[in-house]
Amino acid sequence: MQIFVNEQAIKNRISFLKSKNKSIGFVPTMGALHDGHIALMKESINQCDITICSIFVNPTQFNNKEDLIKYPNTIESDLKKLRKVGVDIVFYPTEKVIYPKNLDLSVNLDLEKMDEKWEGEFRAGHFKGVVQVVKRLLDIATPNFLFMGQKDFQQFTIIQMMLNKLKIPTKLVVVPIFREKDGLAMSSRNVRLTSDFRSKSPIIYKALNYAKDNYLKLPITEIESNVLNLLEVNGLKPEYFKIVNGIDLEVVNVDNDKYVIAIVAAWAGDIRLIDNIIIKK
Ligand code: AMP
Repeated sequence: MQIFVNEQAIKNRISFLKSKNKSIGFVPTMGALHDGHIALMKESINQCDITICSIFVNPTQFNNKEDLIKYPNTIESDLKKLRKVGVDIVFYPTEKVIYPKNLDLSVNLDLEKMDEKWEGEFRAGHFKGVVQVVKRLLDIATPNFLFMGQKDFQQFTIIQMMLNKLKIPTKLVVVPIFREKDGLAMSSRNVRLTSDFRSKSPIIYKALNYAKDNYLKLPITEIESNVLNLLEVNGLKPEYFKIVNGIDLEVVNVDNDKYVIAIVAAWAGDIRLIDNIIIKK
């Protein structure tokens, strides 16, 4: 496994691989890798000749400074996991490499307010930061395939929009949510849950399943208020729980959408968790 810190060095390596007609799969991460990330690596390794993983905690997507400061760094164990699963190349740049002072890296893109709803409402500027860093990383890695998790539903929806609008010739592959045995969606933030909140958090997955099981049996507004109540009585503080269209993430009122999902964000103590479930597709 090769590790690159420098932009030009990894670009040279990638253009050499492309000249040999190797297909490139790219998995951007912020490190603190868990089995959910590893599922993305495996998918890329299955589908592509070469798998590149980037580890970069992107400051421009953090609306909360505290969250950025406390973001776990486990680089040594991350590298071990990546080597073990068979990743070919790791890109581990510094902030100066990604955001050099002399480069204008703003991305001018109409996200059609997709960045302002749900997660965007609670995390101002978050998706602009995500778009900026993913665009920058794609410019460097120029992959054939980009692997992202269903866990961050709104994130991959926005990145797909960016790929379409900027006509970037990279195909997005979305990998299903990898969960702990008790249903909690794996997340780098889970290690920061207190043991009390760790044991309370699987209620989120139960609530999502309740919504899926009762879709079309109960009115949507009733499902939503029952779920909010369920989360609250179990000690979590929900920010939103909504049944939405899986294409534009607009609310579903009557059953005339083919692709329907439920999305949720809730605080478990000081930790904000997000999750979702596909109700029908
Ligand atoms: P992050 O390091 O949190 O930025 O995540 C990097 C990638 O891993 C993103 O595409 C996430 O959606 C994906 N990911 C995070 N958690 C999971 C999970 N539990 N299952 C599948 N993919 C995940």
